[in-house]
Amino acid sequence: MRAVRLYDREDLRTEIIDMAKEPEADEVRIKVAFAGICGSDIHNYKTGQWISRKPSTAGHEISGWVDEVGSSVSGLTKGDTVAVDSRYYCGRCAACMDKHHHLCEDLGFVGEAIDGGFAEYVTVPAHLALKCEPRMPLDVAALAEPLAVALHALNRVDNGKAETLYIIGCGPIGALIALASSILSDRKLLVNDLDHSRISLVCQATGAIDLPLNDYIEGRGGERPGHIIDTTGNVAVIGSLLKRVRGVTLGLVGIGSGSIDVDPVQLVEREVSVVGCHAFADELPKAIELLQTCPDRFRPLIEHRISLENTPSEYDRICKGDAVGIKTLIEIGKLTSCQKVLPN
Ligand SMILES: [Zn+2]
Ligand SMILES: [Zn+2]
Repeated sequence: MRAVRLYDREDLRTEIIDMAKEPEADEVRIKVAFAGICGSDIHNYKTGQWISRKPSTAGHEISGWVDEVGSSVSGLTKGDTVAVDSRYYCGRCAACMDKHHHLCEDLGFVGEAIDGGFAEYVTVPAHLALKCEPRMPLDVAALAEPLAVALHALNRVDNGKAETLYIIGCGPIGALIALASSILSDRKLLVNDLDHSRISLVCQATGAIDLPLNDYIEGRGGERPGHIIDTTGNVAVIGSLLKRVRGVTLGLVGIGSGSIDVDPVQLVEREVSVVGCHAFADELPKAIELLQTCPDRFRPLIEHRISLENTPSEYDRICKGDAVGIKTLIEIGKLTSCQKVLPN
């Protein structure tokens, strides 16, 4: 089968490899329909930070059809449409026992700890395959994983209570946070990015208002501080926010590099809460439900589609800052006899 594998830092190859393995008793094999390229895929390609096996088929934002089911799996049959949970957790540590699987002491991700979805087929533990409605459009279903990340960030910062939310960065996660917030609440959304085409796409899709970072910090434009989610991981941005904001919760979702010199007294005196938001907890079913309910709200984010063959050059293009649109989807499998025939 065709697969895109990461061999090392800045070494990604599209190859013909052996078919994904037959599922063990508690696994399923999925015929991949679509897989999304994530910021963390690009971060790993640039830095090699999370390479734990070489080579590894990349990709953790996956939709497809169940192809083969292990002998002890219940609730899934061949042809079911599924979205994949990316968290490869141990199930035994204290965090897992508390059902905080995203905080597992031994957490890895599909596409890193095990082979991922940038391939025609992928075999995963059956509990990581979430069944969707048969008519779920599978391009949109590939957004389930990043949308769960977005919902988790929203839950972490305020559960929808702040009147305004300022989202820094209009990449896939920032855009999905804005979209989810606009669907689930009527709070005012402010957004910022260096890329004006991304800002205008997000503003159009969500009704958000573009507000430059300095204007927000200086209080220009009459915007009262609400809560903030940073999706850039840029330490200069986060540092300048921590030095100036008052009475806000700052959610951190972005993965960057470097460190920040913080005076704790300033956080005390200005009552700033800094909240880390990692992957997602139990938000994936809600993400699937939202995507099933209003797929057309999400489609503007996934206009850019590529092939497995073009994936390495697309990585290089994204690294150069020339990404097209918001989320790049790799279009992999087509409808075949593997999919259930639906009644009209
Ligand atoms: Zn991701
Ligand atoms: Zn664990």
